[in-house]
Amino acid sequence: MEDKSYVTMQVCPICQNTEDPMGILMDTRLRDSFQGRFTIIPTSVCDKCKDIYLKKGVMLINPKSGKLVVIKISAFKRMFNKPVPEHHIAFADDELILSLVNQPHE
Ligand SMILES: [Zn+2]
Repeated sequence: MEDKSYVTMQVCPICQNTEDPMGILMDTRLRDSFQGRFTIIPTSVCDKCKDIYLKKGVMLINPKSGKLVVIKISAFKRMFNKPVPEHHIAFADDELILSLVNQPHE
């Protein structure tokens, strides 16, 4: 039997702060992406992290694995040779993300 009252707490993909969730999701259309008690929506970053990371950087995230890295806007432009995405969030695969994580910072 289907549980129509399924709810989950939405957690930011960067800080993953479960003490201070961003809100409660009850949208049944999103239910398939719920991950139990806490759910990370890859493109939904909390205001604190937006302020710290996304003002001057671009987050690359793999929505499947949840792996992510934040790089400088200048680095994004240099590497990808394309405009910065609207919300400073782009999807990438694990391989690319890990190669960036392991790169020495400028
Ligand atoms: Zn956050």
